[in-house]
Amino acid sequence: MNIATGPMSPDVAGLDLDSWSKGLFIGGEWLEGHGPHRIPVVDPSSEAVLTHVANADLSDAAAAVDAAAAAAPAWAATAPRKRSEILRRCFELMTERAEMLAKLISLENGKALRDARGEVAYAAEFFRWNAEEAVRIVGEFGMAPAGANRILVDYQPIGVCVLITPWNFPAAMATRKIAPALAAGCTMVLKPATETPLTAYALAALYKEAGVPDGVVNVITTSTPGPVTAAMLADPRVRKLSFTGSTGVGRTLLAEASKTVLSCSMELGGNAPLIVFDDADLDTALDGAMVAKMRNAGEACTAANRLYVQSGIYDRFVAGLTARMEALVVGAGTGAGTECGPMITAKAVAKIDELVQDAVGRGAKVLCGGNKPAGPGFFYPPTVLTDVPPDAAMAHEEIFGPVAPITRFETEDEVVARANDTEYGLAAYVFTKDIGRGLKVSRRIEAGMVALNRGLVSDPAAPFGGMKQSGLGREGGSHGVLEFTEPQYVAVTL
Ligand code: NAP
Repeated sequence: MNIATGPMSPDVAGLDLDSWSKGLFIGGEWLEGHGPHRIPVVDPSSEAVLTHVANADLSDAAAAVDAAAAAAPAWAATAPRKRSEILRRCFELMTERAEMLAKLISLENGKALRDARGEVAYAAEFFRWNAEEAVRIVGEFGMAPAGANRILVDYQPIGVCVLITPWNFPAAMATRKIAPALAAGCTMVLKPATETPLTAYALAALYKEAGVPDGVVNVITTSTPGPVTAAMLADPRVRKLSFTGSTGVGRTLLAEASKTVLSCSMELGGNAPLIVFDDADLDTALDGAMVAKMRNAGEACTAANRLYVQSGIYDRFVAGLTARMEALVVGAGTGAGTECGPMITAKAVAKIDELVQDAVGRGAKVLCGGNKPAGPGFFYPPTVLTDVPPDAAMAHEEIFGPVAPITRFETEDEVVARANDTEYGLAAYVFTKDIGRGLKVSRRIEAGMVALNRGLVSDPAAPFGGMKQSGLGREGGSHGVLEFTEPQYVAVTL
């Protein structure tokens, strides 16, 4: 494992962490939570406590919904052009402060600074894109087929939204919801992941500065996400849940949301196949595989989880990928030259190690990595495995770490069957110089997003989301904003 020449102790990178740990952000003010204790924020690179954030209880959750409900009528009535300009200002402020935000993400999440910079640019784009969408939420008007009346359809803001986000993209998973919700004219309560609250609070202050009225975006952190979220979902003023996280928690929330028949958008887990055909360009496939596997150190819902390589290119691909994975520099996210930061928690490392040991126990070969280093820090080395049998746990579960299991295949039918042999259907990657075959195989794969001859699929201008148990609905593109609207049809006799 190559170790970066960077700080392995909490170097706050010149950031004033106290300014983002002042309290819960409710009604445009920083309020102390009523939970039993403040929540520690841990640096995954050093395991040191960086700071503490406020802890919301049920009364704070109710206050946040009160603030969002109070702000809703005025925000829904705000001219789309005005909303658009505020969104544009959010984009500009995020872009101006990109380096500060990237350091903050890197610090609390552990990801390499280069990944954090990429995330900030991606996250900011949701404001630019939705600034453009805000003024283009057009309705419909037409003659009913029977000719008796006109059909008028108006897309209205759905109302108060509860947004719940994971730790792996602390900025982007929030702005992918907040920006379209603002564009549609909705108000909201965001509950970010407990591991990475500082980015959410830093962005809350930025929204206020950009002109988002008080109460329109509220942010609360809590050590009891189950009861706090259940209380908000049960509140009849809440009309939308938008969740990004694991499929397991998603199922629980769907059950909660059923009690009030709440509109739900769910971005859940993935188990992406990456398929390399014999006729692929080797360097394109290797470059793509490294991005698809190692962006965010493998902690991405879109991460290539199962690599299937056709026999004719198998040996060259395995050698190339192993060389690239071995060469990666591992270290603190903020460390100079770091390419692979730590995992988010000790529990995450233990889970990855368990999956690797399970595969090895069933006959998988370790070509590099494969051993859990001693701390401090929640590190796991870039790992390449071959001969992973189909009954290994990692063939079915999200690895969520820097582990690439490679399997040989012979035919197109065989690999399509294997790719689809999962409850998930988020992303897939296909490498072939034959674009006709690439498109045909893409159609046969049960995934909401397919990357053809590239390792990156996410784009704010495109619909992001999964089939099967990877989710419901889409974020981004022109679909994203409609998730925060309710179409109302009026039958009109002229
Ligand atoms: P997670 O455990 O499901 O947590 C996600 C969020 O849900 C966090 O804010 C968490 O709060 C909250 N939560 C946990 N239990 C809850 C409950 N009972 N009621 C209400 N909220 C609850 O997921 P994670 O480990 O943070 O993130 C990794 C997962 O997210 C992976 O499965 C990944 O594939 C998925 N993901 C999907 C996408 C996508 O777009 N499809 C994008 C990114 C990540 P606490 O932090 O307080 O536990």
